[in-house]
Amino acid sequence: MAALGRQAGQSIRASVLEESVASVYADSGLVEAVVQRRPSLLALTLYVWNVQRSLLLAARVKARLPDTKVVVGGPEATRDNEWLLRHPAVDAGVFGEGESRIQGVVGALAQGRSLADIPGTFCVQDKARRLNLEEPLPWDLAACGYPYLDRVIGPSRSGTLFLETVRGCPFQCRYCYYHKAYKSVRPHPRRAVEDVIRWAYQPDSQVAELYLMDPSFNLSPHYRDVLRLMAQLRPARDIRGHTELRAEFLDDEDPARLSEAGVASVEIGLQSVNPKALALAGRSSRIARIARAVERLKKESIEVTTGIILGLPGDRPEDFQKTLDWLKTTDAYTVVHPFLLSVLPGTDFRQRAGELGLTYDPRPPYYVQATPCFAEDELRDAMLVCETTFDMELDHIDLPCLVDHAPDLTVSLDAADYLSKWIVDPAKKKWRQKLAAALTKAADPFIFWFRGADCRGSEDDITRILDAFFDANPHAFVHVVFEYPTRPRPRFLQRLAARTAQPATYVNKSMQSWIKGTGVLSPAFTILVHDPLEQGSRRRILGAYEDLATIVWDIGAPDEEIISQAAGPCLVSAAVKPGSPYGYHLLRTLRQRFRSSPEDVLFRDNVLQQFWLRSTNQWQPQGFPERIVMDVD
Ligand code: SF4
Repeated sequence: MAALGRQAGQSIRASVLEESVASVYADSGLVEAVVQRRPSLLALTLYVWNVQRSLLLAARVKARLPDTKVVVGGPEATRDNEWLLRHPAVDAGVFGEGESRIQGVVGALAQGRSLADIPGTFCVQDKARRLNLEEPLPWDLAACGYPYLDRVIGPSRSGTLFLETVRGCPFQCRYCYYHKAYKSVRPHPRRAVEDVIRWAYQPDSQVAELYLMDPSFNLSPHYRDVLRLMAQLRPARDIRGHTELRAEFLDDEDPARLSEAGVASVEIGLQSVNPKALALAGRSSRIARIARAVERLKKESIEVTTGIILGLPGDRPEDFQKTLDWLKTTDAYTVVHPFLLSVLPGTDFRQRAGELGLTYDPRPPYYVQATPCFAEDELRDAMLVCETTFDMELDHIDLPCLVDHAPDLTVSLDAADYLSKWIVDPAKKKWRQKLAAALTKAADPFIFWFRGADCRGSEDDITRILDAFFDANPHAFVHVVFEYPTRPRPRFLQRLAARTAQPATYVNKSMQSWIKGTGVLSPAFTILVHDPLEQGSRRRILGAYEDLATIVWDIGAPDEEIISQAAGPCLVSAAVKPGSPYGYHLLRTLRQRFRSSPEDVLFRDNVLQQFWLRSTNQWQPQGFPERIVMDVD
């Protein structure tokens, strides 16, 4: 934005919320971070997964800084997205690509002028909403360099560099807004793309993954040149590649080209094998070519995620079943990714929803609720069949990290810049003085670990703490761990979830139809239970909390016999050096016992936990390190 302003003779001081803030803090911390900068303008890029949260943050910022103007753009800013256009926190917005008009918008807002003469924008003026629906000219991609090259932004914390080589898409899928946001297909200047790629392969770039984010990478006029360059540069530095393809347009040599360039995974869209549904969706039905291409990709050891859509117009339950059967028969996937159709703002399906007989949720993620071919419960049943067919768990959530012995990660709340885990005994009442600061410093995701002598006696305090947390941070993902001599009452957990969870947040709503038990993903309950090492007792405990909480069996500092009887998920409490005789023996025995499910073993000791993750190939670059605050004494 600053670079665009300079070109137009404007002096704009722009700052992007750093990833160490944007990807760390829950809602309250983000509001604080924005308010501290006192921006005169807050610009938000809105996607289906962040629009509700972003608007909540905008409203809270405006409540503190009433003069700050909020400008929105991104795929959610479309002329038919009424709830966004009328949202009280939004002052103005840009439809389609923002670069061509953002400086005009900033200038007009700074001077209190109307945006009425800026094509493809909307604003609120004199309490009335004004839209300019003129088509803006496409932005000249050569007019401004990549922000990566002047180091304004860099790769993500985990080392991913997102690179667009082409803007626009030649296809017209009717459920997609992307091709409507960009009126033509335009490559970025080849030189600029090559410069970014060359920089990515420099030893000091911190890039571990190159995500080629064109929606149909192999439709770009230069994609083979891009792959060739990556292959040439690879000897200097092996960067993992990922992209999205139209598999039916790959030629026989393309899979080898992708592999030589280091592309390790691709996403493709099959959507359906039903020609009628594909025709209605504006997709080609060359499914035999897709199967052949996937076979070649997999031969090159490229992981293929194959997307299918449930609820397409024209698709009946038996047609969806045929899609599942076809995938099973052809093996045209490494991973199947099923989507429930989102009737997105700005798309043809949204405009023709009445004619097509689609009923849908008007709020994100805009899921279809029924079609003339699919009743609501049939949609749910079909997704559950898909789950069983491909042995997936749609509402799966990873276990929380149960490390509580990590001297270098344990901090006092005053000293903590943020807080990812709070181990607290509510009965001690210390939390009362600390709660306000903890709510603002809380990270997302966050772990509450309630520990003490009496859970039942602490129920009111636990409820108060979680009430306050979700008021402050409604969009955060929260694990709640209970560690008490007597387990929490299932009825209490039901009540707690019903009272504190925010069913309308994206995290909960996106899985709403498939979540069992509490009906929400967050808060997710985990109960630590001393392992009775006896099947009957275990079964009774598991039965009492089925679909309500995850039971983690605490096996203490186990010997060989205990490990042989252990069931996952289990927690090892021993704090020993991995290289000590006991540590070595412990890890070796656990590895033998949990060879096929190492993720089912957790450790209280951070050194052992990290060693376990690495030695069982589970370690992943962490978004941000833990910050643990203990209030249990
Ligand atoms: S779904 Fe993909 S291929 Fe289809 S229009 Fe959208 S971006 Fe293009």
